[in-house]
Formats: sequence, C-alpha cells, structure tokens
Amino acid sequence: MLPEQTPLTELKGVGPSVAARLEALQLHSIQDLLFHLPLRYQDRTRLCPIGSCRIGTEALVEGEVLAAEVTFGRRRSMLCRIKDHSGIISLRFFHFSAAQKNALKPGTRLRCYGEVRGGKTGLELYHPEYQFVHNNDAETLPAYLTPVYPTTEGLQQTRLRGLIGQALDRLNVTIGLRDWIPASIRETLGFTTLVEAIVFLHRPPAGEQIYSSLQALALGQHASQRRLAFEELLSHRLCLRQLREQAVQLNAPTLIKPDQLRQKFKSQLPFALTKAQQRVANEIDADLQLGTPMLRLLQGDVGSGKTIVAALAALQAVENGYQAAVMAPTELLAEQHFLNFSNWLEPLGLTVGWLSGKLKGKKREAQLQSFRDASAQVIVGTHALFQDGVEFANLGLIIIDEQHRFGVHQRLALREKGASSTHLPHQLVMTATPIPRTLAMSAYADLDCSVIDELPPGRTAVGTLVISNSRRDDVIERIHNACANGSQAYWVCTLIEESEALQCQAAEVTAQALSKQLPDLAIGLVHGRMKAVEKSAVMDAFKRGDLQLLVATTVIEVGVDVPNASLMVIENPERLGLAQLHQLRGRVGRGAVESQCVLMYQSPLSKTATQRLSVLRESNDGFYIAQRDLEIRGPGEFMGTRQTGMAELKIADLVRDAALIPKVQEIAYTLWEQYPSHAQAIINRWIGHKEQYGHA
Ligand code: ADP
Ligand code: MG
Repeated sequence: MLPEQTPLTELKGVGPSVAARLEALQLHSIQDLLFHLPLRYQDRTRLCPIGSCRIGTEALVEGEVLAAEVTFGRRRSMLCRIKDHSGIISLRFFHFSAAQKNALKPGTRLRCYGEVRGGKTGLELYHPEYQFVHNNDAETLPAYLTPVYPTTEGLQQTRLRGLIGQALDRLNVTIGLRDWIPASIRETLGFTTLVEAIVFLHRPPAGEQIYSSLQALALGQHASQRRLAFEELLSHRLCLRQLREQAVQLNAPTLIKPDQLRQKFKSQLPFALTKAQQRVANEIDADLQLGTPMLRLLQGDVGSGKTIVAALAALQAVENGYQAAVMAPTELLAEQHFLNFSNWLEPLGLTVGWLSGKLKGKKREAQLQSFRDASAQVIVGTHALFQDGVEFANLGLIIIDEQHRFGVHQRLALREKGASSTHLPHQLVMTATPIPRTLAMSAYADLDCSVIDELPPGRTAVGTLVISNSRRDDVIERIHNACANGSQAYWVCTLIEESEALQCQAAEVTAQALSKQLPDLAIGLVHGRMKAVEKSAVMDAFKRGDLQLLVATTVIEVGVDVPNASLMVIENPERLGLAQLHQLRGRVGRGAVESQCVLMYQSPLSKTATQRLSVLRESNDGFYIAQRDLEIRGPGEFMGTRQTGMAELKIADLVRDAALIPKVQEIAYTLWEQYPSHAQAIINRWIGHKEQYGHA
C-alpha cells in the first residue's frame, strides 16, 4: 500500500473526530504521520538515582513511597515522598483525589517522570507521570527515547505518539516508503536510507550513544535529521526548477529592435553607467532577445543604481511595441519610481501610467483604460497591478522591485497577468536588500542572477556610531553642527508597534520636540499617513534644501535621494533588522561630504542587539550584512512577514543547514536530468500536488 494514499482512518482508534484533529496538523495520510517529526525527546531509557537528579532537567526516577500527605500552603497540594538508595525526592500534585492519595501507601514502589525543581522540601517533581512497579514484575525500561511531537488542542501527546507508533509498526510490513534518492547517490553522500532515518528520529534507540544522540538531535545536527533536511531542500529546489522549466517552455516577446530609445535615454543622463551596470544591462538585453521568458534576479547593494538598469529594460520592451510594468511593495516606493520613470521617460515622448490601491473612481478608470489601449507604455504601481480587473494591452516585461517582501506566490500571480497558454512576459526581479548566497541558491533557484557589484563613483563610506539615548543631547548637537556647515540631516523614528498610526504619531511628537531644541533649523516631517501631495511637498522642500532636518518614519527607507544629506540619526535601531538599517543608512553618503549614521539605541541593550548593531558599525557591505542578519535572526524574520515559499520549510533550516545547499543544488541537477520520475516523486512527497507555489 502506498503510504501517501493510505488514509489515517486505516489506523486503530482514528474516527472522524480524531481525523479532523490530525487534519488540523496537516496530517492527511500515513506518510504525513511518518514525516511528522518530534520537537524533542525525553529520556526514559535509564533510571536516574535520586541523589544525582539535577534541577531543571527531566528525569526518570524509581523509589519507595515513604509517606503521602496533604499540605496547606499557598495552594493545597498533595506531597508524596519517595526514596531510593541515593536520596529522597517529593512528588507534588495540585490536582489529586482521595483515592489517588490512598493508593500511594508507604512501601509501594513508583516509577516517575517529570521535571526536577527545587521546592520547599528540597528536590520536587511537579505533577510527574507515574506508574506502580510491582516486585515480581520484570518492569523493563523503554528501548527508545520518548518522542514529543508538535500537537494540537484536543489531541493528546500520548494519543499522537500511539498513532505514529502504529504507522511505524506497519512500515516495511504493510507499508513501503520508497527512497527516491537513488542508492548510488545516497552512498556518495554518506546518508542512511530514508526509512532508517525516519525510524531513528521517531525511535532513537537506548544505549551507549544516547548522550551524543540527544545532543545532536537537540541541535538539529543528527545524521538522520540532515538526511531529511537534505531531501526537503532538494524538493524545494526541484520544485523551483520545475516552475522554471514550465515557464521557459512558453514563448516570450523577442525584443530585438535597435536600441535607439535606450541610446537617447543614456545620453540624457548626467552620468555614465558604471561597468557593473553596463554588464548587467547587457545580460538583460541578451535575455530579452531570446524569445523565451527571462527570469532574472537583479541584486545590488543599496545605491548601486538598479533603477536605471530596470529603466533600460523597460525601454527595450517599449521600443519593440510592448508595455512594461514596474511593481513596488509600498506606496511610497512606487511613487518614487513613478516620479523617476516619469522624469526619465516623458522627455522621450512616452506615457507612464500609475496604479495603487488608493487610486479610485474616474482617475482609476482613466488609468486602467490607458493600460488597456496601450496609451501608457510603462506602468508603475503597487501590488494593485495584479488585482482582478487590471488588464494590459501587451505586457512584455514585468519588473518587481524589493522582491523579498513579495512571496513566490505573488511573483507567480503577476507573471500570469500578461500570460496566455503559450506566452509569458519577461520578468526582472530586483532586491533592495542583497540576498545571502545560500538563500539565493535556494529560495530564488528558479531565477538567473545578475549582480551590480560596484557603486557609482564619488560615494563616500558612511561612518556608523552606536550611541545610547542617554546621550541624546550630544546627538542633537551633532545635527546642529552638520546643518551649520551647510549639510542636511535625517532623523528616523521607529516604533515597537506594527501600527502605522502610532508610528506616525511618534514621529510627530519627535518633530515637535526637535523644533524646540533646534529653533534655528527648518524642520520637516514625513510619514506614511500623509497625503501623497503633502508628502511630495515636504520631500521636494528637503531636496531643494529649504528644509535642513527631515524627521521621518521608516517610509524613507527606500527611494529618497538627497546627496547633500550627510547625517542620519536612527532612533531605536535595535527594533529593525540589519538589512533594513543598512538600507536606511544608504540614504546618506551620496554626496561629496563625509557622512555619518548615528544609531541611537534605548539602553540597556541586549547582548544580541549589541552584536547586531556592531555588524553595522564594522561593515558597509550589504552582502556581508545580509548574511549576518540571516544568521542572527533566521530566515523567517529575515525574509519579512510575507514570507516566500521557502520559509515554510518543515525540517530544514536555511541557516543551520546552509552547508548542505551546494550539494542540494548538484544532486537536484542530477535527479532532474537522470531520474525525472524520482524528482517528481520527491516534489510530490514534500510539497504536494496542489501547493506547488500556485499553478504557474
Ligand atoms: P538602488 O540600487 O539602491 O535602487 P538607485 O537606482 O536608486 O539605487 O540609484 C541611486 C542613486 O544613484 C540615484 O540617484 C541614481 O540616479 C544614481 N546613479 C545611478 N547610477 C549612477 C551612475 N552610474 N553614476 C552616478 N550616479 C548614479
Ligand atoms: Mg532602489
């Protein structure tokens, strides 16, 4: 019987109600149960002499009851003292019955399992599990560590453990679990078989190696865990490969017309492209000529000039009679792009369209009409661009900025916008934050990668200071001095709350306070709740130099560009991720003057926070910072709340298992080429048929 097709109701004790609870854990088949791995283990394979029990650990002890009595402390409880050859320990119960107490007669032998605490009477076990041991019973200890599974309300641990036990008992008897990694490959990798790994993880055997096993298991580094993590990573890699293959089967517009528009555009720019920009632009140009969809990731540190490269790609589409759509994750960033693209492209005689969720009524209708009749050639907007009711006349290229805030699913949804059963638009994905190599190799494995690894000339490294908010006056003095010397400054407010309203309020309060302390400076305020016209009025005044200090929420993270600003103060930087801080800091250091970023933290600062902020002080390299951010915070946090598919890993951990990733890449290639049916089976097993990142 195939385990993926065997329903859970095959097991003893599973009726509709238990099945529903299992369903809530995403457990639908016997195979799912087998892959439902323990969170941790309890060691009940050996007895711990009472005298050697350590507080804070869990222990299995056995002893003779001395007495059981009810005590009346702050809470009524029953205390039962037991003794072995090495010491005495008390079992404490807050919920108990008279019958229970009566059964605990002096002289009875008990075996108990629980967490050892330091209580009033010395060592205590609170509400331990216990059983009676009879003299002539040959009471044996379990031969395995006891697994503790993730479970859900209404499904007891012991129940779930029993069900998984049933599944394991049937494994290799009535149920076969096929190992889709061919033996020859498995052996070169030094892995055990799939079944061995699964059985081990559910039932790690007692014995001499138990200490080291427990330790490795707790760290997620046991060979069996690595074996499964490898296969899971492999499945994701293969799935992305499959998506890619499906996409490149389709046709895309062949954008081969001569680059007159692009030449004109470049000659208008006040600077020449950097070598890196030119190289990446050429890579994109070559892709767009091919007639198969481009799937390319464009990476570059903050300020490396990705937008211009994107504009060149858009022009290539327009030159060939197609539209290009540019999507950004926030309203403000989208607005910035809209302004940039309008300034660049309107002089060339093009029309730039605009769409965001806030655009309503007649204006919205007019915009939508211009997308449909192709009177807008380049269209900029937020994710509103891929909502229903938005149609394009002939979308040839999709550019997505700030990729890691969009999930894989959204990327695919937009891809479908301009798609037909035979055609797909080209796709360029830009990240504002560099993606660490291991992530790029896994989460973005369906994309080709281009890197702008050079900043435009004339940038100065930003000096970063980490200062306690007890020195706020010094910081204000610094602003005063910088502005007295003709520079401009930013003051960035962050807030604990996710609430935008509170964040904006905090910025307002700060702006008022700073106005009092710095009466001779012209101070402006910008936050996400202001109307677009108000915001752009403030931003323009700051750009013109009419404002010297700009107080802002993190909305200025992206897209603001004022070379004369040379000082940035970030309040409570400990609340933001490193990548985001680096992004913010990239707003200064764009002009000739030496720039500074002051990270003004709320003291005291935790140890990790100190460690994190020092990464920023030490480095200006976005790739290095992203890598450290990933290591410190883990992939879920790093990728943001709107996670990509990859953050949904069950067993593997992109940081812990980073060393596996190059091998995963290599083996995925081999399987894809030489064992396609195995590759498909691995995708199905781990990711399922329905959930393959949408239906691209
Ligand atoms: P990012 O990669 O962070 O998105 P942008 O595209 O916003 O960077 O560019 C940052 C700034 O650098 C912009 O003001 C842009 O006009 C400018 N810039 C881009 N390329 C060059 C270049 N080759 N030389 C000088 N300045 C450039
Ligand atoms: Mg940018």
